[in-house]
Amino acid sequence: ESPEKLNFIEEIIEKSIADGEPRVHTRFPPEPNGYLHIGHAKSICLNFGLAKKYGGKCNLRFDDTNPVKEDVEYVDSIKEDIRWLGFEWAEEHYASDYFEQLYEWAVELIRKGLAYVDDQTQEEIRIGRGTVTRPGVNSPWRDRSVEENLRLFAEMREGKYKDGEKVLRAKIDMAHPNMLLRDPLMYRIIHSHHHRTGDKWCIYPMYDYAHGESDSIEKITHSVCTLEFDVHRPLYDWFIEKLGIFPSRQYEFARLNLTYTVMSKRKLLQLVKEGYVSGWDDPRMPTISGLRRRGYTPESIRMFAEKVGVAKRDNIIDLGLLEWCVREDLNKTALRRMAVLNPLKVVIANYPEGQTEYVECVNNPEDPEAGRRKVPFSREVYIERDDFMEEPPKKFFRLRPGGEVRLRYGYIIRCDEVIKDASGEVVELRCTYDPLSLGGGSSDGRKVKGIIHWVSAPHAVPAEVMLFDRLFAAENPDETAEGGTFLDNLNPDSLKTVRAWCEPALGEAQPGEKFQFERLGYFCADTAPSSAGCVPVFNRTATLKDSWAK
Ligand code: ATP
Ligand code: MG
Ligand code: MG
Repeated sequence: ESPEKLNFIEEIIEKSIADGEPRVHTRFPPEPNGYLHIGHAKSICLNFGLAKKYGGKCNLRFDDTNPVKEDVEYVDSIKEDIRWLGFEWAEEHYASDYFEQLYEWAVELIRKGLAYVDDQTQEEIRIGRGTVTRPGVNSPWRDRSVEENLRLFAEMREGKYKDGEKVLRAKIDMAHPNMLLRDPLMYRIIHSHHHRTGDKWCIYPMYDYAHGESDSIEKITHSVCTLEFDVHRPLYDWFIEKLGIFPSRQYEFARLNLTYTVMSKRKLLQLVKEGYVSGWDDPRMPTISGLRRRGYTPESIRMFAEKVGVAKRDNIIDLGLLEWCVREDLNKTALRRMAVLNPLKVVIANYPEGQTEYVECVNNPEDPEAGRRKVPFSREVYIERDDFMEEPPKKFFRLRPGGEVRLRYGYIIRCDEVIKDASGEVVELRCTYDPLSLGGGSSDGRKVKGIIHWVSAPHAVPAEVMLFDRLFAAENPDETAEGGTFLDNLNPDSLKTVRAWCEPALGEAQPGEKFQFERLGYFCADTAPSSAGCVPVFNRTATLKDSWAK
């Protein structure tokens, strides 16, 4: 057996273990401003996975430093999604629980002459920061005395100033080649109700100040984040060093990008708010809750995260890989059932009228434990409309006039007559069956190539089936004509609802139960309260094969 290949973060950890520093403490730090998506799942699997592998811990920390966009609804959904993925956090924290400590540390930096209150407007600050090729200029307020800074910062906290009137900045270097170190903002004034701290605070710490200090408070050893934060690392280290606190370390990996998918929470929120989808858990959304409702399993998502790996360079993963993973998993676990999505009635003329017999069907050929079930068969069955062709091409092994086909687990039938309506559309097939063909044989030993699924018409249970396609028609939804937006790339055919006819067992499907509809794909009974109506609703998780043109 070849040794398992380590990702670069595992290599770093194993080196630190070798150096006698075996402790691994990671965290997953979502901002509660939206639902988690498949990109977050990647980060969750990585952070919780590292902790598990090395006998360490992983915290859940809500990065709730911006009261304007955050909400408890998001906090609750995030916890539900992480647990559903199969992970449990060691400690639950909120950056807002650290506001007092962060404030004290800010005061300490002011005392050390390393932070100052700036009265400039946002615009003045932006211009003063310079550009990559031009150094910034010092703020006229940069050399305020420590006493004055302490007084003004206390007054900011007390609510003496309006939003935007003042900010607290770290005093680093306005000519620093890394723009983020040109006296970055530490605090801004926001008079807004916070979902946890209420109206206690009207100053809120910026990400760069709050994040590293929160990591340090929790004694996080490996603070894993996405690549675009690598330029923030010197600032992360600067605060820790100047405060002399526990030295958490930041490591960056490539964020997950998927074809035909947007993953920015701002855009996902826009899709929800403007009604392009039915909600965060719309089965077309790349959110965990959407994938769950679509029929994805935690195992399939963890498998996907594993396959994607941990890269140090940005890349784009084929959405087909995610589908491949869910097929892999469901193929092993999903019970097989028969359902017809586009019915064509077949009357078996030589079968006794009013008779029902029960044919035995295998529940899952991949899993002998899944057992068998009895499915009713009678004189009238539905088959899939495109399993019959009046004038078929060569190599069409399904039903044709005068031709034979086997009904899955049932008999061989022959098409004797095609009945059409006034417009010429085929409405019914008259067939005869071979009574000696049940269970694979035939009366004279002949073989038929085609096997099709079917449902007994008088026993059929109606259902609504949601056929999903990818939400965006463009591989990169953000690539638009000039002046366009990602919305221009929405796929107008991403949802088709059809009426299906199902074998009786599907009438008792429980919300969230997953099936393979023979020959059609994987389907999941919907979990939305609205679908608890008269007929079951099934969401197509994936087709059986990758049907996309590559
Ligand atoms: P957005 O910019 O869309 O709001 P975010 O990255 O700011 O997303 P957070 O809630 O801050 O969202 O993310 C929590 C954690 O999940 C962060 O550590 C972040 O690095 C990670 N994460 C977010 N998106 C991805 C992604 N596409 N791939 C991998 N990790 C991600
Ligand atoms: Mg963030
Ligand atoms: Mg972000």
